[in-house]
Amino acid sequence: MGKIYLIDVTNRDGVQTAKLGLSKLAKTMINIYLNDMGVYQSEFGFPTTRHESHYLQANLKLAEMGILQPIRLAGWLRATAKDVESAYQLVPNIKHLNLSISTSSQMITGKFQGTKTEEDILMMATEAVDAARAHGAESIGVNAEDSSRTDLNFLLKFASSAKEHGADRFRYCDTLGYDNPFSIYETCKLLAQEVGMPIEIHCHEDLGMAVANSVAGAMGVIDGGQDAYINTTINGIGERAGNADLVAVILALKHSKGLAQKYKLGMPIRLLLAWRICKYASYAFNVPIPINQPGVGANAFAHASGIHADGVLKDPQNYELYDFKELGRGEPETVETGREICSGEYGGISGFVHIMGKMEINFENRNHAKEILELVRYANVLAQKPLVAEELRFIARYTDIAKELFTVTPLT
Ligand SMILES: [Zn+2]
Repeated sequence: MGKIYLIDVTNRDGVQTAKLGLSKLAKTMINIYLNDMGVYQSEFGFPTTRHESHYLQANLKLAEMGILQPIRLAGWLRATAKDVESAYQLVPNIKHLNLSISTSSQMITGKFQGTKTEEDILMMATEAVDAARAHGAESIGVNAEDSSRTDLNFLLKFASSAKEHGADRFRYCDTLGYDNPFSIYETCKLLAQEVGMPIEIHCHEDLGMAVANSVAGAMGVIDGGQDAYINTTINGIGERAGNADLVAVILALKHSKGLAQKYKLGMPIRLLLAWRICKYASYAFNVPIPINQPGVGANAFAHASGIHADGVLKDPQNYELYDFKELGRGEPETVETGREICSGEYGGISGFVHIMGKMEINFENRNHAKEILELVRYANVLAQKPLVAEELRFIARYTDIAKELFTVTPLT
């Protein structure tokens, strides 16, 4: 029986979203939180994008140091041999890749404007897989962009060719959120049966079905005899209406009617860290968590009406499907309402020592404190908002990694 694994794409789909972005430090913190939660893989960025190089390399170092373990860090790029070459030029020790190309006739006609045929698409993708293999990639996923609007026979051919060339996984991308749970179940089951390789499900929220489609797609893959990998983002942040929300997917897998008995997670997930990661992503993206968001919304465990309040007070299970403690909620949070000293790009030593002292971080001497302060200033240049305690702790602890994260070298 196949298992379900989670691949979070916040640091790729999330950050490429219009009007939103993350500093390289925030992306790093998200990788750390995802690893703590037990997420199988983080799609951690774009290896062909030059301003990502230092960040990607610094995170690969964290993996070597055992800090980002066991999570896999995978880069996302277009499925062309040229892009694979440039990825290895810029990030030579990258180990996991996801190679993406459009496969639907809409995209082939509408995007490539008649310059490419289906045969060209097959050739580009397989050449990219060959190039990644030649560079010693440890795992390769091949993404069919707009899978749900792709001719099924071509999709099967595309996935099979990728497999023949040594790809490890096929990503079924419902790029426009066009599928419904019934259609994606059938297609993913067929793909798993016919192609015989593990399948990733990448869903979008344009019709409000991203989580349902992800779960149904994974069920199809498992019923088709393969492992399923669900793509998620924290708080559902992603292109347009967003992606499948990480926490909602986990809750659905754990608590939806009859699901967990048959469709099991391949790695234990620490849902207890949900509150922390969602709050952090909300702060880092500067996007509030909707009041009615599953699990972590302010109203997810709030009751006002007489019948509901009475019922929940008698037995929470009357009106709550799962307990708030399961998500790491319930601890009181301290919010400063009086004087506040914040980190900033123009901060000085006294304020800084005060902030760090509150977190019980002490320095060897004043020079050491000044060195960390300098790094914190750079972090603020990039974040443009006060750093949170865990970011400050990270900088104080991993100064060399922090230096690399804050290094951006524009083209000369
Ligand atoms: Zn996407």
